[in-house]
Amino acid sequence: MISSTAKTEQAPIDYKCKICRDEEVVLKRREDGSEYAMDCECKKERRAERLMKSSKITSKFQSRTFNSFKLDGRPETVKQAYEAAWNYVKGYPKREEKGSVALLGRPGCGKTHLLMAISNNLISKGVGVIYFPWVEGFNELRNNLDSLDDRIRVLQQADVLFLDDLFKGQDNTPEKRPTRFQLEQLFAIINYRYLEDKPILISSEKTISQLCQMDEAIGSRINEMCRDYKVTLTGGIELNYRLQ
Ligand SMILES: [Zn+2]
Repeated sequence: MISSTAKTEQAPIDYKCKICRDEEVVLKRREDGSEYAMDCECKKERRAERLMKSSKITSKFQSRTFNSFKLDGRPETVKQAYEAAWNYVKGYPKREEKGSVALLGRPGCGKTHLLMAISNNLISKGVGVIYFPWVEGFNELRNNLDSLDDRIRVLQQADVLFLDDLFKGQDNTPEKRPTRFQLEQLFAIINYRYLEDKPILISSEKTISQLCQMDEAIGSRINEMCRDYKVTLTGGIELNYRLQ
């Protein structure tokens, strides 16, 4: 008896949660003495940690929240983008609306920051978000063609997909057109999510009509999906806070 107590006290295991000893389940006792299992308080937090890990959101981007977004002195159009993002988070998930967000137009307005703020907020609530930055994401797909199908499936089926900087550095000229590989994979992802009513968060310097010029099937679906939360940031260089 004594030795078993001593053994427990010596155990140098450093549990993250002392309540459940990382089992994520705790046993409770009913009045009649019988026991039942319940999720530990830490379970939600752990789920958020796991979701963050698989989201591909780097630690730098985890600090992009609504609180860290500077609104003071910013132009009206930036405030509209902020409001759209904030309303989206407040209303998520709202089935009667088309639940996707597009922040389009001028660079340097904080589009990525705001969509990151949505992503971080949703992950903390247990929603699975996958981050897919256009250029790096496609480099990774191309370098891992063996696992292409699996990866595309992840991008199709994630609770929420954040497509950052869509068509970055590209346009409709022959030299800068997106590759056929890119357009085919993108269509497979967008069309799946369109049919299944799965949200996307999109940032792009292109407007909807430019997206449609580059690929009408993709552009028109994005337009419809983002109908209720779409802001196109227009205006001059004064919008770019990186230059201020
Ligand atoms: Zn626990």
